[in-house]
Amino acid sequence: MDNIWNEMYEAAKAVLSPKQVSEYVACGEVSAAVLSKTGKIYTGVCIDTCSTLGICAERNAIFNMMTNGEYEIEKVLCIPPNEGKGAPCGACRELIVQLMPDSYKNIEVMLDYSKGEVITMGELTPHWWIG
Ligand SMILES: [Zn+2]
Repeated sequence: MDNIWNEMYEAAKAVLSPKQVSEYVACGEVSAAVLSKTGKIYTGVCIDTCSTLGICAERNAIFNMMTNGEYEIEKVLCIPPNEGKGAPCGACRELIVQLMPDSYKNIEVMLDYSKGEVITMGELTPHWWIG
């Protein structure tokens, strides 16, 4: 497996820390890392709230990347609960496609870190509702 996936995994693992922050807010049960076009790794955790105010770890990581002035993703990795297997949800895929409508299909997504199973966004989302 490409060493950058290991770096992304370690970065995501470093912020993985499930916490009940208040009666209504929990965070950190899932963490994610995105690799930007410039080779930097940005992380995020999921935030779960009442009334759908929360956010997935992947989108939080992408927003972190954008907060830091970067807008192009190369790779996405998330650590789901119990370090299981998982791909970005529909909302996260939608954000990725809207962010990079002409090139999102080349973005690589780690589907199962334990097996090194990688899939492209083009395989996950071959047809976009607008494009
Ligand atoms: Zn999501």
